[in-house]
Amino acid sequence: MINLILFGPPGSGKGTQAAHLVERYNLVHISTGDLFRYEIGNNTPLGLQARAFMSKGELVPDEITIGMLRNKVEAHPDAGGFIFDGFPRTIPQAEALDHLMEEEDTTIHLLLALEVADEEIIQRIKLRGITSGRTDDADESIIQNRINVYKNETTPVFDYYARQGKSHSVNGIGSIDDIFDRLCTVIETQGGQ
Ligand code: ADP
Repeated sequence: MINLILFGPPGSGKGTQAAHLVERYNLVHISTGDLFRYEIGNNTPLGLQARAFMSKGELVPDEITIGMLRNKVEAHPDAGGFIFDGFPRTIPQAEALDHLMEEEDTTIHLLLALEVADEEIIQRIKLRGITSGRTDDADESIIQNRINVYKNETTPVFDYYARQGKSHSVNGIGSIDDIFDRLCTVIETQGGQ
């Protein structure tokens, strides 16, 4: 069993790479962004709460996000492993995840951080916004806010797992296949498999 965190700024390609990793390593993919968008699409109370934050490029509060994540993990008792995409984004979320993994008699094995420069990210997100229908992808000031939130609130999560010897940076520039190969190399050399 291997549990991975796919880390990196908005627009760094986490969703794309997660889909490939799920297939290669038989993992359950949990994307908090996708889960929130699903709730929003169904007009649920959770979706209404989340939308108020997402539309501004702010983080959804920890207690809402952690509760949703916990439900999703507990819904997969037979998982061969998880890939967390877009979670944890704050230190309290990381602590809650570690606690949850312990309860499930497992642990986070690796955090894989995709590295992409700001200018490239802004271009990618704007391009995605043309087809994704995501309002948070369409407005440059919201994109900038998401990048600022990432730097201020989310990058400490990299250091948190670095202290456990689990964080690894991967160059997120190149073809999808090349980046995938880089991720697999880290998993196979560092993942304890
Ligand atoms: P991206 O990585 O491109 O920002 P996501 O789909 O991961 O896209 O996230 C979109 C938005 O959903 C975030 O800007 C934030 O508002 C909300 N969100 C997703 N995951 C979390 C989380 N772990 N904690 C708080 N808010 C989150």
